[in-house]
Amino acid sequence: MWRGGKSYTRAASLKSEDKIMTYAGKHIDSAVVLGYRRIMHHEVLRSFHRKLHRWYDSQGRKDLPWRVTSDSYAVYLSEIMLQQTQVKTVLERYYFQFLKRFPTLSALASAKQDEVLQAWQGLGYYTRALNLHKAAQRCGGILPETVDGLMALPGIGRNTAHAVAAFAFHQPVAVMEANVRRVLSRVFALSKAGEDELWDRAAQLLDKGNPFDYNQAMMDIGATVCTRRAPRCSECPLADICAGKVAPELYPAAKPKKIVNVRRKHIVVFKNSKGQFYAQPRQSRFLNGLYHFAETDAGDPHLIWQGLRYAFSKGKRLGAIRQQYSHFTLEADIWLMAAEHSGRHWHKPGALVHLPVSMAEKKVMVLLGLTKAGTDTARAKMAKTDRKQ
Ligand code: SF4
Repeated sequence: MWRGGKSYTRAASLKSEDKIMTYAGKHIDSAVVLGYRRIMHHEVLRSFHRKLHRWYDSQGRKDLPWRVTSDSYAVYLSEIMLQQTQVKTVLERYYFQFLKRFPTLSALASAKQDEVLQAWQGLGYYTRALNLHKAAQRCGGILPETVDGLMALPGIGRNTAHAVAAFAFHQPVAVMEANVRRVLSRVFALSKAGEDELWDRAAQLLDKGNPFDYNQAMMDIGATVCTRRAPRCSECPLADICAGKVAPELYPAAKPKKIVNVRRKHIVVFKNSKGQFYAQPRQSRFLNGLYHFAETDAGDPHLIWQGLRYAFSKGKRLGAIRQQYSHFTLEADIWLMAAEHSGRHWHKPGALVHLPVSMAEKKVMVLLGLTKAGTDTARAKMAKTDRKQ
């Protein structure tokens, strides 16, 4: 698979990367070329697989619940939860609870969307939950076993499809989550690899005879040995074939820092004379399906709602909240206003607190006095944020 053009092209292109070649005075060029040539040998690859499996047997995280189950739905669920959330959080607060509430794909398929969102509450990236629900409804209780079949379901991209195929159905395909990406970039000394190149490399290294253990081991090495800041090459079973170990900090090249975008808003909680609060489900890509209060940009002098104008001076300011999302920070002033609109989506306080909402709305409910902040830290953070406004 890995012959001719690509490796020679890569080796040739290394000649022009003089800055990298001389980084910290290390002779990276010869190490890289040597590493490439060595991996190409079948025997070297076999020896690497043996070492990797020995390492996994003694040091892998083999007792994770989604690694010891034969339930493909549980494996699929874990892959979706772990896409944006740490193992510890998923284990402690979501995985078992979700499976208890929806023990099978069919049970998930027949649940209401609000119930699914509520079970997902706090995990964030709610589109994951909506897609999981849709996929369960679409596949009739049985997950497809092939990568193509899995990728036809909503919310399943290439990596998730490979992971479910390898871990639930033992298909000979490589997995490539963030940690594995870093390991591959270092093993092949790739500072800026494109998607296709990484997938090619992943397929070259794969142990097709035991894709389950191989992929789990690669993920564990990325998480525990070949870490971003402090790789421990002397303990790594990939050290013999790793072209980047001379200067692992170069691979992959650091991405430019994201500029944090701040969005400032007014959030208005309407309360009617029956003591009910208004909140409606979002219909947008972001936080789709989660309930929210009325809101407008911070620069607006008033809120137009249900065709009427509400001046902030007529409301009571409850405080302010700050919520970090993946691509922006929300800073909002929170207002309570009286309103008598007769429509849907008015909720008694007891019902409001059980609706699926995002963390921002949860913080608003604390300011309303309907719920308590989860921890002292959360309370302190909210108070601090409030002082800043
Ligand atoms: S040898 Fe070092 S750089 Fe290479 S994969 Fe192992 S820990 Fe990472």
